[in-house]
Amino acid sequence: MIAIDGPAGAGKSTVAKAVAKRLGLRFLDTGAMYRCLALHCQRHGVTAEQGDDAARLCEGIEIGFGEGEPQRVFLNGEDVTDAIRTPEIGDFASAVSVHSPVRKLMVRQQQAIVAQGNVMLEGRDTTTVIAPEAPVRIYLTASLDERTRRRMHDFASRGIVKDFEELKAEIEERDLRDSTRDDSPLKIGEGVTVIESDGMSVDQVVDRVVALATAAK
Ligand code: C5P
Repeated sequence: MIAIDGPAGAGKSTVAKAVAKRLGLRFLDTGAMYRCLALHCQRHGVTAEQGDDAARLCEGIEIGFGEGEPQRVFLNGEDVTDAIRTPEIGDFASAVSVHSPVRKLMVRQQQAIVAQGNVMLEGRDTTTVIAPEAPVRIYLTASLDERTRRRMHDFASRGIVKDFEELKAEIEERDLRDSTRDDSPLKIGEGVTVIESDGMSVDQVVDRVVALATAAK
C-alpha cells in the first residue's frame, strides 16, 4: 500500500494514477469522494457551512469508482466524473471537508477500501489519518507558482480558462484552509518522505515513488 499526500496542484493524482498502473494497485482518489459530497449538497440546497446537514447527506450516498482515463466516478449510480471536476465543486469540497462529522464518515468508507489491500491512496490526510500504517507514505509538493502552472494546464486541457494570479490566490487560500482546519489538517506527518517536484517531470516523480515502494518490500 502506498499513500500520497500533499497540497493542491502538486500533481498527486497524475503521479498516483501512473504508480497504480505500473505496480498493479487499485487507485483510490479520496478527493473525488469529497467532491461527490459537494455536488450532492449543492443539489440538495445544503451549503458547505452546514456541516451536520452535509454529514446527514453523506450517510445517504454511495460513491463508486470505475475504470477509464479519467477514472469514472459514480454518485448513487450516476456518472459524475465531469460534474465533480469544476473549480466551484473543488472549492465546495474544500469547505465542506473541514467538518468533523463529514470527515468521520468519509474516513470510515476510505478505510474499508484500504482494508481490502493493494491500494494506491491519494489525498490530503491519507498519510496521517486514513493509512498512517502504509509502508510507503509520501508528501508530494512543489512551489506555489509551479502548482499554479500545473493547475492552469489541467484546467486548460478541459477547456477552462483561468487567470494565473487569480488561480494562484485561490490555491493559496485552499492551502491555508486545508492546513489550518482543526480536524486532520494538511501537514507533513512523521516519517513521511517529502518529494519537492519543482523541475521534475511526471515520469521522474513516478520513478522515485516506484523506487521507494520497491525498497520498502
Ligand atoms: O484533491 P481534490 O482537489 O480532488 O480534493 C478536493 C478537496 O477535498 C481538497 O481541497 C480538500 O480540502 C478535500 N480533501 C480532504 N481530504 C482528502 C482529500 C480531499 O479534505 N483525503
